[in-house]
Amino acid sequence: MKELAGKKRKKEFSPARRTILKGGAALAGAALLTPAATSGAGKPAAGPGEILRQTAPARTDRDVQVVHSVCLGCNARCGNRSVVKNGRLETYSGNPYHPYNHLGDPVDYATPVAETLALPSPVCAKAHDAPNYVYNPYRILKPLKRMGPRGSGRFEPVEWEQMIEEIAGGGKLFAHLGEDRHIAGLKELDSDGPIDPAAPELGPKRNGFVFVTGRLQAGRKQIIDRFVKDAMGSKNRIGHTDICGLGFRMGNFALTDKEQWELKADPWGAEYILVFGANIYEALQPGVNTYGAAVAGRSSEGKVKFVIVDPRAQHASVHAEDWIAVKPGQDGALAMGLIRWMIENDRYNKAYLAAPNPAAALQKGHVCYSNATHLVIDDAAHPHDRQFLRIADLYPAAAGESGQAWVVLSRADRSPAAFDQVGEALLDEAATVLGAGGVRIKVRTAFRLMREGVMAHDLDRYAELAGVPRAQIEKTARDFTSHGTRAAVCQYHGAGNYVSGTYAAYAVAMLNAMVGSVEAKGGFMSAGGAAASWKKGRYDLRNFPGRRQPAGVAISREKAVYEKSTEYRRKVKETGSGYPASRPWFAFTKGGLSVETLSGIDQRYPYRCRVLFHYFYNPVYSTPGGYRYKETLKDHDKVPLYVSIDTNVNESNIFADYIVPDITYAEGHYGWLNPHAPALRFTGIRTPCIEPLTGKTADNRCFCLETFLIDLAEKMALPGFGAKAISGRDGRLHPLHRAEDFYLRGFANIAWQAKVPPAAPAEIAFVEKNYPVARFKDILSPSEWRTTCYALARGGVFGKYEEVFADGRFKYAVKRVLLYSEDLAAARNSLTGEFFPGTLTYIPPRDSAGEIIALKDRDYPFAVITHKMNVHTQSRTISHLWAMEIFPENFVVMNAADAGRCGLKEGDLVRLISRSNSKGITGKLRLTRLIRSGCISVSNHYGHAQHGASSLTVKNGAEVFMGGRQVMDKDRLIADPRRGTGLNANMVSRLDENLADTPLVDLTGGIPDFSSTRVKVVKEGG
Ligand code: SF4
Repeated sequence: MKELAGKKRKKEFSPARRTILKGGAALAGAALLTPAATSGAGKPAAGPGEILRQTAPARTDRDVQVVHSVCLGCNARCGNRSVVKNGRLETYSGNPYHPYNHLGDPVDYATPVAETLALPSPVCAKAHDAPNYVYNPYRILKPLKRMGPRGSGRFEPVEWEQMIEEIAGGGKLFAHLGEDRHIAGLKELDSDGPIDPAAPELGPKRNGFVFVTGRLQAGRKQIIDRFVKDAMGSKNRIGHTDICGLGFRMGNFALTDKEQWELKADPWGAEYILVFGANIYEALQPGVNTYGAAVAGRSSEGKVKFVIVDPRAQHASVHAEDWIAVKPGQDGALAMGLIRWMIENDRYNKAYLAAPNPAAALQKGHVCYSNATHLVIDDAAHPHDRQFLRIADLYPAAAGESGQAWVVLSRADRSPAAFDQVGEALLDEAATVLGAGGVRIKVRTAFRLMREGVMAHDLDRYAELAGVPRAQIEKTARDFTSHGTRAAVCQYHGAGNYVSGTYAAYAVAMLNAMVGSVEAKGGFMSAGGAAASWKKGRYDLRNFPGRRQPAGVAISREKAVYEKSTEYRRKVKETGSGYPASRPWFAFTKGGLSVETLSGIDQRYPYRCRVLFHYFYNPVYSTPGGYRYKETLKDHDKVPLYVSIDTNVNESNIFADYIVPDITYAEGHYGWLNPHAPALRFTGIRTPCIEPLTGKTADNRCFCLETFLIDLAEKMALPGFGAKAISGRDGRLHPLHRAEDFYLRGFANIAWQAKVPPAAPAEIAFVEKNYPVARFKDILSPSEWRTTCYALARGGVFGKYEEVFADGRFKYAVKRVLLYSEDLAAARNSLTGEFFPGTLTYIPPRDSAGEIIALKDRDYPFAVITHKMNVHTQSRTISHLWAMEIFPENFVVMNAADAGRCGLKEGDLVRLISRSNSKGITGKLRLTRLIRSGCISVSNHYGHAQHGASSLTVKNGAEVFMGGRQVMDKDRLIADPRRGTGLNANMVSRLDENLADTPLVDLTGGIPDFSSTRVKVVKEGG
């Protein structure tokens, strides 16, 4: 394969390398631009010189405020420092205390704030563009109610109190539009009666309330959980992990026995990193300021080599040892090939894998051991077939924990022994042991089972499946196994976010176990966790009188066992087999299955949704195949009441009955943000830097998520909200009537638990002068406020990279990794009844009927992938005017040789047509040699139909939209064509014909599919 040839070959890519350099320059330039456009509310954004001066303000003038907080330009959670002038956000720079802004080595936490104000600290271009997000003229500031059919784009402002009344109480809410149906409000769902009397295991009526969250971080997550789960008692607060990056997380989830999912290669200590589907210079978590910058810096010093595994040569490829242009959806085949080579060439860490328990592993220098030597019962006649052999299987009299101990074969005498009783065990074995009553039990070690899964195909076959030359697999495997435990994988979205992704990502994660680098310094590491907890200490923010326990089955069927359902039992009775389930269930998943939530709602399965809330969630735009959900959201029977909480009208909430205006992270989104992987321990604190820009309630609280939920709860007299909601260490019950009642107490808990000292008077004065939250300081006692100020002044509680190690060993490691997962092996495919394999298995991307998509769609010659750009996050950054000025549109990125064969040329307008979308979508062609032949890539972020891209009819719209009269012509919103440029690849994604044409999902983990869609590329007018 030509595209694989590594360093020598890269020299041939000079035109594209220039493109990369140009991209880098553009990124740097993003901070320096003076946009011709205004920042939305009529005032021009600051000029370049001014921004540079403000980036590190040496003092805080009377009219300049500085707040240390946490960015939410993307989900990476870097620190930020706002510069606010006369109450208006001018720009952001980084927070010198935050490790993410300083490559893991920030200023000492005890440094007085005054000494840090002149220190420069980076953030990325997205953060610099924040004022354009905050002052976006298309932001909504008042609540809206539909005043036409769903999706008509006709809204009118509604009084806050009326909206609360109607959503809580329900009724004939749209009778004035001729819609004579009764709509259940939330009050009707506040009932313990069964949602389906014929299937009581599905839980109470409360589960008819479904709350799906898009961009959500800790802080707001807890207040939403308090409302949905603890007060309303619904099971259905469901995140969007699936579209975010469930694939790679499922691999880590399986590897770590469901303990951790954010493990990545340690960018500060690794010598060799295999980057699978992670865009390290342009996206990722930690973000470009952190992970990409650390790897780039160490790479330039010769301290780390890395290899990019991606069908597209992302920007980091310019520094990479090799670019391996794997076929989309075949990362697992490549990983299996690498593992096969390691086994055949005896290049894996046998000593590590043969250590059967923590003590034995520690003796060899590992803080995390593996279950490679543990025996698995391989005997269909045995009641515990497919499970680990336990001491009680051999000695039934063995009780309690000792009876449950796993069994290994001692290396000393090959006899069965409890895993924690021997220092070394046999690794690669199949045997028969004598069980209770002399029964012979066939067993194999977890390693043997894993090895057999890998050996099912030879190296040439893996090379063919992955589309990677065998020689490249051999070279990469040799290199990966040449750095001891300083070699690791960094995988993200691309590595497993597709059908069959669970096993692909498990294989990729397994590479780290093979070299023994899991939780080793410089290896595959998890995060060090929170510096302190928000939950308790000074105040109990978790428990309250009357707190409910959600019960039953989530509408996404995540973490639920189909075989326990009434449906299963009924089908067994009727047909002798309980299969197939009407839709898949997902017993073994990390969860956050927003796609199956929407599909469940669409199919009214396993029960009907009655009230749907969306928070910063735009499934029509952000889900592959999300266009299918337009009809779901439009359907009053499937979604009787639809409420969206957001800053904008988007492609999904255009169908909403009510839109609740929300604030941006400059005005709120209070939170406590812990690190993603790896090897850092901290809690960033997010507080506002400007006053909220949305409207206000009669008692002067801003319109936002928190005010909405609190007012709904108080209206319905739900527990956990109102006058006596939060118990304090002082023995009193405190109110929860505004956002700050909750969050300030969380901050006090963090400061107390982290044992930070009281802030010096100068730092208290700094917070009280600069931080809008200081207005609410009386919520805390004076002593609590002083310690909280210490953390607020620094933007959180932070430590350094070295502090997570003791004697070079990671202090917060997961304790065990699995070469065989008993829980995965116990789960079944709910459509066929087959057990899922408990260890590595090559599974091609296939639909729910088991058909291989690439074969079924062979008439569609091009595989579609997507990528992120460094100046954008997913969908919201369409308001980032500076980014849009640099890159006004996106493209259909195609291999130049492919284009030549198809008679296409740069700039052609082409139509992409898939099996599921025969009308297709159009985009402009951009040719490159930096993408695998047979693939096309489309960046996210573009192709909007809303967010200002289309006109709307909004009564008194000048009072609703931030841009006021600038964006309104009487009651018509004036669209900005810049916001509708380009295309969105999700609009052409493959659907599953066997499951009511809903989006494809992986039947094991519920992963949506971002890599299996195939298209024809047709020249428009050609
Ligand atoms: S990567 Fe950029 S946008 Fe994302 S959190 Fe960090 S500074 Fe903000």
